[in-house]
Amino acid sequence: MDKHCLCVFLILMFFPAAAASTGPSPSSCNPNAKEQRSIRLSFKFEDIGRLWKIIDELKSGADPAVEKWNSLVSGPGYESLIKEEIPEDVLLEAIRTAFLPSKQIQQKLWRDEGKSALHLVDHFLALDSKRREVTDLLLQLNQEQGKLSQQAIELACDYFSLQASEGAPHFSVAFAAFQKDARGYRSSIVMDPLFALEAGNNLVYWLAHETHHILRHSVAVATTPDGESAKNKSLVWVLRQLQSEGIADQIDKPHTFFGEGYLAHSKFAKFFRNEVVKGPTRIAQLNDLIQEIKVCQLECDAIDERIRKVAVMAGHPLGFFMADAIEKTLGRDALIVDIGDPSQFLASYNRAALKSAQKLPIFSESSLEYVSRLFTVGSPMISK
Ligand SMILES: [Zn+2]
Repeated sequence: MDKHCLCVFLILMFFPAAAASTGPSPSSCNPNAKEQRSIRLSFKFEDIGRLWKIIDELKSGADPAVEKWNSLVSGPGYESLIKEEIPEDVLLEAIRTAFLPSKQIQQKLWRDEGKSALHLVDHFLALDSKRREVTDLLLQLNQEQGKLSQQAIELACDYFSLQASEGAPHFSVAFAAFQKDARGYRSSIVMDPLFALEAGNNLVYWLAHETHHILRHSVAVATTPDGESAKNKSLVWVLRQLQSEGIADQIDKPHTFFGEGYLAHSKFAKFFRNEVVKGPTRIAQLNDLIQEIKVCQLECDAIDERIRKVAVMAGHPLGFFMADAIEKTLGRDALIVDIGDPSQFLASYNRAALKSAQKLPIFSESSLEYVSRLFTVGSPMISK
């Protein structure tokens, strides 16, 4: 998650005329409905069990046999992490550097140099220092997974339409240490055990957020040839992020980053909330950049970079701002009816902005037209 104010009161200040949260709408998916019986989160603990054994061997001064390392990197969590974002050699070297006595000099050197892989080393050290608590937690989660799964799917379904969820795949939640975060990949969730430990009863919100990503992925529309072009690469990425994270963040952020949320006082949450306040400014900036990229013929890379910079924190707070405006002004159905189509998300935001009493900025017709050219209508994407 990859990722995390105004508090809730400020959000309400933006949209005072807004209706109260509408709750699950008639078109929301229902985990008890026949169609959804096949959706279940299945918890996987193999990764962490193999990691403990490797850590113990490294501490004794021995480098585990190749088969043991292979077993670790082919586990449900680490296989996904390696495939999507952490190179295998970086991961394994960080584990060795954290625990192998002969690597302690290297670890000191990395600290002196401020090497980026150090965050992994420190995370594994922190994990090992909480081994008892983590082990107890995973035992507890194993017993409670049926209940947690049901709650997480219910929360995710509050922001997902019934029709859209048909055919959603089975998927697993693999507990694998990497950083205090979680990931929702195409067919699995990876949850960091330390992150889960700190979340306590809030874990269900993070599970629901990542579950939502997996459900949405099955209906995400494909890009057109225009959307595939190099000059639109960043814009397409940002637009997808705004919708997918903006809606998924409605599930967890009000409970974790705002008000009395357990992370509300963290720097990350404060930054997130400050960015939500800047939503109107960011909308105007993004609109200008869409106009620039629309007419750009040559050397468009600089605009590309600025587009990514406008979507601070990978688009989470701006997406949150837009989704919140849509839901509070037009209702939840309007927010989720076009889930998977980023161009419709912008069009819905415009309708909400025009209806709101706050004179929120809108995207120009020209920008909406350009964005609509980047995505196909109603045909699910094949690859992200
Ligand atoms: Zn997310």
